[in-house]
Amino acid sequence: MYRNGKVWANLPFGSIQLEPWLIFENKTQFHEVFRDFCVQEGFAVSVDYADNYRYTARCLISDCNWRIHAAVLVDKVSWAIKKLEGEHRTCGRLEENPMVYSAWLCRQLRQDLEANPETPVESLQRMCLERFKIQVKLRLFYKVKCLAREQIHGGFVESYAILPKYAEMIKATNPGSYALITWTDNGVNGERVLEWLQTHYRDDGAHLSGYYKGIMLTAVGIDGNNEIFVIAYGLVDTESIKSWSYFFRNLRHLFAQNGCQKEYWTFISDRMRGVEPALFEVFPRATRRVCCQHLYSNCKTAGWSGTEFHKLFWIAANAYNEYVYDKAMSKIKKYDAAAFEYMTNIEEQWTRHKFDRVVCCDHNTTNFVESFNSFTKDNRDMPVFTLLEGIN
Ligand SMILES: [Zn+2]
Repeated sequence: MYRNGKVWANLPFGSIQLEPWLIFENKTQFHEVFRDFCVQEGFAVSVDYADNYRYTARCLISDCNWRIHAAVLVDKVSWAIKKLEGEHRTCGRLEENPMVYSAWLCRQLRQDLEANPETPVESLQRMCLERFKIQVKLRLFYKVKCLAREQIHGGFVESYAILPKYAEMIKATNPGSYALITWTDNGVNGERVLEWLQTHYRDDGAHLSGYYKGIMLTAVGIDGNNEIFVIAYGLVDTESIKSWSYFFRNLRHLFAQNGCQKEYWTFISDRMRGVEPALFEVFPRATRRVCCQHLYSNCKTAGWSGTEFHKLFWIAANAYNEYVYDKAMSKIKKYDAAAFEYMTNIEEQWTRHKFDRVVCCDHNTTNFVESFNSFTKDNRDMPVFTLLEGIN
């Protein structure tokens, strides 16, 4: 069709040569090749005119006479360089090229980031200097890594979109499990925020990073062999009474579905926002324990610390009988009456001698949950689908 022209062919190792009547598949290809060319040659352009039909630009250096003009061809799809004139005589190479931006860098570094997503930004910077002889600001590489992650693992938005299918698959492939997805209207921008819950004692909120700043709520159980197992986890938009009661209601539903109508559960938590009222609403007869590690740090904040107090606190917390407990507490009363007051008035269970003997579990801290949390840490800034697959 264009007998006088030459169709652009990507040379895998060669440098880009532009010439008049070089023909491109479409506008996008022309712009990509042109940008690569500018970076390769070390100059930037100022655009005189650009739309869907034409593109005219000149060298950014004002006294340089280099010009390019390209336009769409009669088929209304292909593009061709129509004019290429002038020479960069005195321009010199731009060290920091404004033609370089995150999407361009992402395209160039995608393979490297796919092979090693943890490549430090400093290494990426060095790679760019070696390969393209360009200096790029470090902060741009953080954005590039995010972009690459989205391209490789699918976007955050797309990832949430496939959750309903994923929930169905979980239920089909794991008999006895439970998965539910509900939508809520986020008042701030009208965008729909997804709440997600899959299939039992300790509850904890772990913050997710990434595009949706959601929270992952988990219920972790501990069995007779002191082994932890994940009963349920849910992703919610914020940690609140509303999201915790949503989580507990579904937990209750899950127990019922598995034929368990037990009312007297024992929950241990860090006294986080929303947990208490929500738990009370859904499991009114449940026994509540509070993590002693957390309790101790509250005491420290209140000013009760030092080796003596630390020793007495843990004797009281770990006491298996009333005698040991009372002895430690009377010493605490002498140490500071306010501390004694505070510790005797804690509503939740915390000292072992008060624990129900039926519950064969004497944990008074939530340390066992930390191992689960550190396990999910690597996946927390991934799109939701990758995160859930990581947990499974
Ligand atoms: Zn120039």
